[in-house]
Amino acid sequence: MTQTTTGWAAHSPGSPLEPFTYPRPDPGPNEVEIKVTHCGACTSDLHLIEGNWGVASRYPQVCGHEVVGKVARTGSLVTGLAPGQRVGVGWYKGACTTCEWCLKGEEQHCPNVVPTCSDGHRGGFADFLTCDARFVFAIPDALPSPMAAPLFCAGQTVFTALLRGTRPGMRVGVLGIGGLGHLAIQFAAKFGCTVTALSSCEDKKVQAMELGARYFHTLTPATLQAQENTLDFLLVTASNDQDWAGAIALLRPRGTLCFAGMPNPVTLDIAAMTYKTLTVSTANVGGRHDMLQMLAFASEHHVWPLVETFPAARINHALDALRNNQVRYRAVIEL
Ligand SMILES: [Zn+2]
Ligand SMILES: [Zn+2]
Repeated sequence: MTQTTTGWAAHSPGSPLEPFTYPRPDPGPNEVEIKVTHCGACTSDLHLIEGNWGVASRYPQVCGHEVVGKVARTGSLVTGLAPGQRVGVGWYKGACTTCEWCLKGEEQHCPNVVPTCSDGHRGGFADFLTCDARFVFAIPDALPSPMAAPLFCAGQTVFTALLRGTRPGMRVGVLGIGGLGHLAIQFAAKFGCTVTALSSCEDKKVQAMELGARYFHTLTPATLQAQENTLDFLLVTASNDQDWAGAIALLRPRGTLCFAGMPNPVTLDIAAMTYKTLTVSTANVGGRHDMLQMLAFASEHHVWPLVETFPAARINHALDALRNNQVRYRAVIEL
């Protein structure tokens, strides 16, 4: 008899998630099967559920790419992972491992990268997930499972961007204090940067300072103007439109405006940027090496996401809270 798993699926664009049962294959020689215990909810999941990314969504669409669980079964060739071990999976769950990008440690750019929950793959809002063991990462003992989950997408994304784009002592701004932003503050502060948190909500000030921000400013024209030329690196984690001219004005010469959120479309004043020789960059998730480094750093330096947990039966409430910007700061589903 074929074994099955039950996931939480959107059956059409934007529809509430409902239980959906599908076959559960035996793991291949290089694969592991994970019994999922927790999975973070990311705005990318909302885009997939709502069909905003075209053919990336395949209905019934099962999302979830901040997956934490325990190894249930291993393939015959898997070494280094054993049943019962706590592990996690991020945005992608496989790649060719032999192309130019894989050899550079940038598996996220592999032309044959296998996304965890898009393009027909069913993700972590489910009882079980099977994937290539090389893209399954052991979770350090110090990290509790609910806190570990958001590190696998949100954490890796901001960690990799900050690791590449900053140096200790730099003045780093984080624009948008949500799932990505509250982790970015912690990583940047622990990297030795001076962190300025920028948010439209004054009520996030106390939390932002506790997480490691030195300064906090609300996003008003007056405060933006008062902070002109104060930052070397501005990480935009917000997904909505902002005062981009004001954001550019915050940067010092040679500064970088880096997008981790995806507030499409964005209009930038290139003349104003040229005047200060600014750089625009983006933050994708990282490679396998970045993931290992991030997990070790988060464990050692106590970078813990602040999470709200939801039982699986309340998954639609969690997604609504995420849609309405009401989660402090990452929703994690208990499967
Ligand atoms: Zn994500
Ligand atoms: Zn490759």
